[in-house]
Amino acid sequence: MITTGSINTVRRLVGRAKKGSKIVGFVPTMGALHQGHISLIRRCRRECDFVLASIFVNPIQFGPKEDYSNYPRRLSRDKMLLKREEVDVLFLPSVGSFYAGDFSTFVFEERLSKILCGKSRPGHFKGVLTVVAKLFNVVLPDKAYFGQKDYQQSILIRKMANELNIPVKIEICPIVREKDGLAISSRNEYLNPKERLDALCLFEATRLFKKLVKEGRRSSREIIKMLKGLILSRESAKIGYVSIIDASNLKEIKTIKGRVALVLAVKIGKTRLIDNCIITA
Ligand code: AMP
Repeated sequence: MITTGSINTVRRLVGRAKKGSKIVGFVPTMGALHQGHISLIRRCRRECDFVLASIFVNPIQFGPKEDYSNYPRRLSRDKMLLKREEVDVLFLPSVGSFYAGDFSTFVFEERLSKILCGKSRPGHFKGVLTVVAKLFNVVLPDKAYFGQKDYQQSILIRKMANELNIPVKIEICPIVREKDGLAISSRNEYLNPKERLDALCLFEATRLFKKLVKEGRRSSREIIKMLKGLILSRESAKIGYVSIIDASNLKEIKTIKGRVALVLAVKIGKTRLIDNCIITA
């Protein structure tokens, strides 16, 4: 595995791979790698000939009161894991090289970025889309892999690639969970043991959602009320949102029909967790 912070080196390596007709796959991350990330890398390795991963804790996607400085950073462990997965190139841009001097050009999606997580995290998706566009422009991947865990993010990235004519295929990969069902996240380590138990309410809500729909319930309002009841029965849980949306355009729906997503954001103590599930009714 070649590890580099140099944009020119990445361009040179990718250029050479493309000359050899290799399919270039890309997995962007913020590091502190876990099984969720590894599942994206493995899928990328299976489907592509040349695999790049990036680690960059992107300052501009964190709000002023968010955890940018405390975000876990574990570079030497991450490198070892990526090497083991036979990643070809690890790209480690520096903040200084990515946002030099008077950086002032951003990618801003006007509609879907303002709902759900965008409501409580203004500027978050502007930061995400800007860094992903920059990474795409450096790596020029044929395929890029994102997790369904961050569903709104993956839909926004797909929309951006589409609307800005970036020639990359966006693959959305299933959520990887702990044994008890909690969606794996770098932020789970902020939870104390009691909160860790309470955090299961997100997964339980997705299960109850599937059960209710299976039983024939179709009213979003009715279902959301029951899901909120379940979540709020946990002492440390505070609801950000519980929404039932059309899985393709993220619009809230009143009656469950077709490909539908339940999306959740819940604060457990001070830690904000998200989860979701997609069904076809
Ligand atoms: P992050 O390092 O948190 O920016 O995540 C990098 C990528 O890994 C994103 O596309 C996430 O959606 C994905 N990811 C994070 N957690 C999981 C998970 N539990 N299962 C699948 N993908 C995940």
